[in-house]
Amino acid sequence: MSGYRFFRARVGAVTDLTPSFRRFTFTGPELAGFADPGFDQRIKIVFPASAAALEAMPTGDDWYDVWRRMDADARPPFRTYTTRAVRRGIPELDVDMVAHEVIGPASAWIARAGVGDEVLILGPAEPHNGVSFGVDFVPPAHTGAYLLAGDETAAPAIAAILEQVPADARGIVVVEVPHPDDVGYLPHHPGFTYRVAARAHGARHTHLVPAVQEAAAALVPPGRGSEVEEVDIDGGLLWEVPRTARGGAALRSAPLYAWLAGEAGAIRQLRRHLVADHGVDRRAVAFMGYWRLGRAEA
Ligand SMILES: Cc1cc2nc3c(=O)[nH]c(=O)nc-3n(C[C@H](O)[C@H](O)[C@H](O)COP(=O)(O)OP(=O)(O)OC[C@H]3O[C@@H](n4cnc5c(N)ncnc54)[C@H](O)[C@@H]3O)c2cc1C
Repeated sequence: MSGYRFFRARVGAVTDLTPSFRRFTFTGPELAGFADPGFDQRIKIVFPASAAALEAMPTGDDWYDVWRRMDADARPPFRTYTTRAVRRGIPELDVDMVAHEVIGPASAWIARAGVGDEVLILGPAEPHNGVSFGVDFVPPAHTGAYLLAGDETAAPAIAAILEQVPADARGIVVVEVPHPDDVGYLPHHPGFTYRVAARAHGARHTHLVPAVQEAAAALVPPGRGSEVEEVDIDGGLLWEVPRTARGGAALRSAPLYAWLAGEAGAIRQLRRHLVADHGVDRRAVAFMGYWRLGRAEA
């Protein structure tokens, strides 16, 4: 497995792509060593706080334990994001961030950050052997169809996946976004049908849940469902990525591979529907609770 480390970077450009998606292009010499395993590579971004400058962030191998032992006020906050694009030669990387209305450290930073502002990014480092445990899109080599689904926080990962799956891949993309003008955010892939819509009257999951159920029915016939264990989404993490110990896909082939990410309540419901009700093989369903309504990430 290849290593992760902290990279110091500054904002080189801010681009409003749609009402909800703001692209931050990060730059700086350290990013020349940032690896690009692709797909939905996750990263952590550390933000400066009034009482906790970036220099206060522990960056050794035991950074998390040290960070947890620090006084809460003295800790620089961090949140999880996805690399949307990596241009090592420049070097630059894009992260598409949603500014949501309930303010946490990330959304506060997103609302006011401008060119020159600095962050630390924990991400994959060169030299890289191509297998990243920060990449959760791990489909079987022979996948009949893909179902990519999530809310706006999953859209950057879905966008990167759509750009990187082969041209002859086929499937359905279901995404629920906050605003009707966000619908055009995703890149076009000729083999995919897009069911992307704004949530009705601001109510979460009104499009996502029924559209995933319809997509599953359109992609594979119902099979024999298997039990799924209840996950306590308010106390723990909702996360399962079927893979081998070496990081490869759990199955060699599958008629359907589903990748589901977003608000944990919706993702739990979708996973139950696919595995327990529709009978999709659980080894072909990756599900990630990216955030939980009413709960801060850290
Ligand atoms: C692997 C992974 C990849 C991710 N990739 C991206 C990405 O590329 N782009 C992106 O925009 N987000 C992404 N996210 C989601 C992002 O990490 C969360 O939205 C994060 O909680 C935002 O931090 P915050 O400081 O604004 O809010 P927090 O301090 O974490 O939470 C404060 C409050 O805001 C609420 N909240 C958090 N996120 C949202 C939201 N999106 N909408 C409404 N309310 C919210 C919480 O429920 C809580 O009540 C990803 C998450 C994971 C785990």
